[in-house]
Amino acid sequence: MAKAVRKDEPIEALLQEGRKFPPPKAFTKSARVRSMALYQEARRNPVRFWEREAKELAWIKPWTRALEWKLPYAKWFIGGQLNASANCLDRHVQGPRRMKAALIWEGEPGDSRVLTYWELYREVSRFAAALRKGGVKKGDIVTIYMPMIPEVVVAILACARIGAPHSVVFAGFSPESLRDRINDAKSRVLITADGGYRRGGVVALKLNADEAIKECPSVQTVIVARRTKQDVPWTTGRDVWWEDFIRDAPARCAPERMDAEDMLYLLYTSGSTGKPKGIVHTTGGYLTGVTTTMKYIFDLREDDTFWCTADIGWVTGHSYVVYGPLSNGASVVMYEGTPDWPDKDRFWRIIEKYGVTILYTAPTAIRTFVRWGEQYPKGCDLSSLRLLGTVGEPINPEAWVWYWKVIGGGRCPVVDTWWQTETGHILITPLPGVTVCKPGSATLPFPGIEPEVVNQKGEPAQAGYLVLRKPWPGMLRGIYGDPERYTQTYWSQVPGVYFTGDGAKRDKDGYFWLLGRIDDVMNVSGHRVSTMEVESALVEHPTVAEAAVIGKTHEIKGQAIAAFVTLKHGHTMTPELQNQIKAHVAHKIGALARPDDVIYAAELPKTRSGKIMRRLLRDIAEGRALGETSTLADPTVVATLKKAYEE
Ligand code: ATP
Ligand code: MG
Repeated sequence: MAKAVRKDEPIEALLQEGRKFPPPKAFTKSARVRSMALYQEARRNPVRFWEREAKELAWIKPWTRALEWKLPYAKWFIGGQLNASANCLDRHVQGPRRMKAALIWEGEPGDSRVLTYWELYREVSRFAAALRKGGVKKGDIVTIYMPMIPEVVVAILACARIGAPHSVVFAGFSPESLRDRINDAKSRVLITADGGYRRGGVVALKLNADEAIKECPSVQTVIVARRTKQDVPWTTGRDVWWEDFIRDAPARCAPERMDAEDMLYLLYTSGSTGKPKGIVHTTGGYLTGVTTTMKYIFDLREDDTFWCTADIGWVTGHSYVVYGPLSNGASVVMYEGTPDWPDKDRFWRIIEKYGVTILYTAPTAIRTFVRWGEQYPKGCDLSSLRLLGTVGEPINPEAWVWYWKVIGGGRCPVVDTWWQTETGHILITPLPGVTVCKPGSATLPFPGIEPEVVNQKGEPAQAGYLVLRKPWPGMLRGIYGDPERYTQTYWSQVPGVYFTGDGAKRDKDGYFWLLGRIDDVMNVSGHRVSTMEVESALVEHPTVAEAAVIGKTHEIKGQAIAAFVTLKHGHTMTPELQNQIKAHVAHKIGALARPDDVIYAAELPKTRSGKIMRRLLRDIAEGRALGETSTLADPTVVATLKKAYEE
């Protein structure tokens, strides 16, 4: 049970999770990292470690200084010049990877395309040449609003090739969200598609784009890739089909010389906590960070087939669908649609079809698969898999173990990777060949990274705020056009220290356990209770698939815990089950954490990237008007919950 804590501690640790999973012997035997030497090297001199890794990239001009750190801005590899697209393509087509599959693409209707490095290089060069011819210059921000089709990767790398930062807007976003992002970036060029396939239907992207740019005075050109072949509205003089746009362009395009600190892209956060922030990433440090983490964390080998299921609209899509894998010369699987189309086994069918060896997905997806049942993965051959990863939210230990057992067959290490849009690449993670995993813990900092857990005063704490004191290569270089918000959001909570916004605890082995967002921490009878721990206890109940907890105002306790839960297939909520679930939590982590309410939810409100939005549940429970909802995946979910709650 919880010990007495000082009132000023931001969070307490309640849940004990004792299971340990050492790396499977067969895996370690041939793993890239088999000893702690990498950690030791990085600890001796982190900057020199990153420099050694950076040297593996193709530089046009070497850097003169590795790091300049003027709080709150870092610069890496100053004076160095390189091009991200040339690193992802040109250096591979000059060697034996020329005819290797770069992109293995699967459309939702079942069509597929494979592009070799040579083919991708040609397509990117041609599109880049056309953009240049169309007047796009180094520094112009190009907005991309596209489905998961090969052209989106071509567009991204073409922008990088000519030094035009890209701003990718998730294709599930509404015209309003697109409009705001275009206006923030002041893009002259928008790249989109007629539509995209999703759950058997089509998403009218061009129609949305037209709606958005009615209020975007900066947009002069709209390039439209053809995917669904549906009818689209057309503005002559402004709109141009992709194939017409590239028709007369040469298939060669010299990559722009980019300074290491030139902007590579702008990307808005997923907006779990409020209005999205335009995060700025630059070229040299970012590419070093994603290339290095990709190689070691995913134990990348020449013959791997890597599938990261994230949408290109999120940072995970940028770092681990495009830049990380391609910079390493890997074969990447990309899937256009949803996991339940035409049936709930689609992911497993894709793994079987392409012989995927490494799967990187999100806890939200894993919990959904748990809810659907084991029969779907069990019906497919998943024996090609050798490594699994997760990102996006804390993964509840039960979900972790399910992933390890049912998907990985007990032979694949699971890497729970913690990072953010702002960090650019993974910062806390196991290295699969050496780290003993504990389900629910992202384990240890990546070599060269030094996070800490501190209290409000910035002093070391067993549980509290997750912060970083030292810069790392892929860190954000600001919020676009808003230096004040940058300082305010990230450098003021604990002065002079990067504030992640997440709560964490450390155990006796120094492992990091992410406890959820600090904004979501509950205050029950003077105890600061994390959402993650109560949710993990809930999910451990055999009937519960997914849970979200919040603190709701209570006269005596300050806050009482309300738990919203979804149930596994075949179960229904009854008053008896509610009591059982409450008792289970109390038994697992203490009477203090016993929920006052257990509320059945058919679905939980999530962002479009699949993260639970607890602040909306708080609004529902407190009977307030709902806060910012533009990043919500399905607005009907909150409406239904609100109704159910009020009854
Ligand atoms: P916003 O900042 O606009 O509210 P967001 O934080 O959801 O949006 P992202 O940058 O996509 O936007 O998400 C990063 C956050 O996701 C982290 O701060 C953390 O809360 C959570 N997260 C990601 N990976 C993990 C992980 N492995 N374990 C625990 N939490 C994770
Ligand atoms: Mg965030």
